[in-house]
Amino acid sequence: MDLKQLYTDMILEYNRDSRHRHELPQATCSEHGHNPSCGDDITLHLQVQDGRIEDLSYTGQGCAISQASTVMMIDLLQGKTLAEAQKLSDLFLRMITRDVTDETELDSLEDAMILQNISNMPSRVKCAVLAWRTLQAALQRQERDE
Ligand SMILES: [Zn+2]
Repeated sequence: MDLKQLYTDMILEYNRDSRHRHELPQATCSEHGHNPSCGDDITLHLQVQDGRIEDLSYTGQGCAISQASTVMMIDLLQGKTLAEAQKLSDLFLRMITRDVTDETELDSLEDAMILQNISNMPSRVKCAVLAWRTLQAALQRQERDE
């Protein structure tokens, strides 16, 4: 199995993963994100306490890449501080724009790192970044509210 096939399989597997797809009654912040070019539509729910993401989930739907990217991001950000979440989402967006290609640096993105090759598919980039941009909007809102 080549690496590209492995990544495709991982994306499809994450796409089927519904662990984080639910409402979050104790959410302190919800942010809606929409990608009109594909129809991806998600709402992120964050439960933030003392500057830390205690829990997060999402509702909505979209293509395999947008859903997989959302699940990977949620896995990565459970229990992280808001500052760490900001840093990791910046890193993800810089990976997609190819500003960061250093594998050691990208390691901190864990499985989300496999979306690196999406940057070769311009029409899918918006799908891959939707969750991360939505998260950044949520972080900004959280900052304003504090
Ligand atoms: Zn999409």
